[in-house]
Amino acid sequence: MALLKIAQIGHPILRRTAREISRDELMGDKIQRFIDDLIDTMRDAAGAGLAATQVYEPIRICAIEVKDNPRYPYKPNIPLTVLVNPKLTPLSQESFENFEGCLSVPNLRGRVRRFTEVQVDAWDRHGENISTQVRGISAGTYQHEVDHLDGMLFVDRLVSSQTLCTWEHFERFEKALFADEARALVERWGG
Ligand code: ZN
Repeated sequence: MALLKIAQIGHPILRRTAREISRDELMGDKIQRFIDDLIDTMRDAAGAGLAATQVYEPIRICAIEVKDNPRYPYKPNIPLTVLVNPKLTPLSQESFENFEGCLSVPNLRGRVRRFTEVQVDAWDRHGENISTQVRGISAGTYQHEVDHLDGMLFVDRLVSSQTLCTWEHFERFEKALFADEARALVERWGG
């Protein structure tokens, strides 16, 4: 297991548009090892997801997994998912406010508007097609990760810069209200 270094906001790699990779490249040892390391790094940092650009590789791969995450206790679980060359398409114009944080943006969280329902088309790590739909809070997680592959961070999408807060102040001032909003989303969309 190798843990990768996670780029922090201000490093230009986080602003790169990642390139697509071919099936041949994906199946090679180098990328398969990289995916293992990406997953290990995400788990070690207790992230809900991690994109290749965050570990200095501008290729279109991200990992997502939520398993009773202590950083995001209101998030529904998502089994380990690796997306290669993902494309997200909103299924409606409906949106919700998510309260996001990011391993590349230390100790800040903020409110971001996300589509409520998205179609996900991608390959898995073996080059097999993934075609699925995600809804509610989980849809926000997918949009956050795929944004990274286009050089976008959640701070670019804040509903207002006044919603920015430290993790400590999220716990103290924001968590109760957002937990209610999150519960309503989970009740509606499951997870
Ligand atoms: Zn992030």
